[in-house]
Amino acid sequence: MNPNANPNAHLDHEIYRDIAEVLISEEQIRARIAELGAQIGKDYRGKLPIVVALLKGSGIFIADLVRAIPLHLTMDFMGISSYGAGTKSSGVVKITKDLEETIEGRHVIIAEDIIDTGLTLSYLMKMLKQRNPASIKVCTLLNKQARRLLEVENVGYVGFEIDDHFVVGYGLDYIQKFRNLPCIGVLKPSVYQTFQVEN
Ligand code: 5GP
Repeated sequence: MNPNANPNAHLDHEIYRDIAEVLISEEQIRARIAELGAQIGKDYRGKLPIVVALLKGSGIFIADLVRAIPLHLTMDFMGISSYGAGTKSSGVVKITKDLEETIEGRHVIIAEDIIDTGLTLSYLMKMLKQRNPASIKVCTLLNKQARRLLEVENVGYVGFEIDDHFVVGYGLDYIQKFRNLPCIGVLKPSVYQTFQVEN
């Protein structure tokens, strides 16, 4: 199957009208997450990892990832905002909701939607390490290596390497919209103009 084909083209899904290109299809995401889950299952056998998602972008990823990990585990969520209402990193990281579980002595897996400049995760890793977890690793669905400003330590799992595109879908937003797009896509340039006028 053509990986760029839109599997929902038969549906009148209005979001797809704003997408210039499907970079990663639903099927590709599903298959890769199954591999990541199996690998994590092997690596953490005999342990009780805590999988932490950074909201809101990683909410959809963690839901699929934990179901692909064949182990007992716990889940927790952290609210963190690193972007303003646009497509450029502000470099400012704000904790809007902290973890509910204590991570001291736990094996932490951070489920992240995308690593771009690395500023967000570098900051977060530093903060979480001070809480003395047994170990801490990042599982990112997407990695934009070309844009890295700060190298992130302990990136154990990467779903897909992507080029320098601003992507949406599968949890990733543009001005809070497009999170419910089932695949990873690139917006049509006209969308930016339209949304700027609307907002
Ligand atoms: P970093 O701090 O690594 O530059 O950025 C991390 C966060 O920026 C991600 O968790 C995500 O919320 C946002 N981000 C980075 N690149 C993109 C992108 O291409 N699309 C969207 N929607 N958000 C992005």
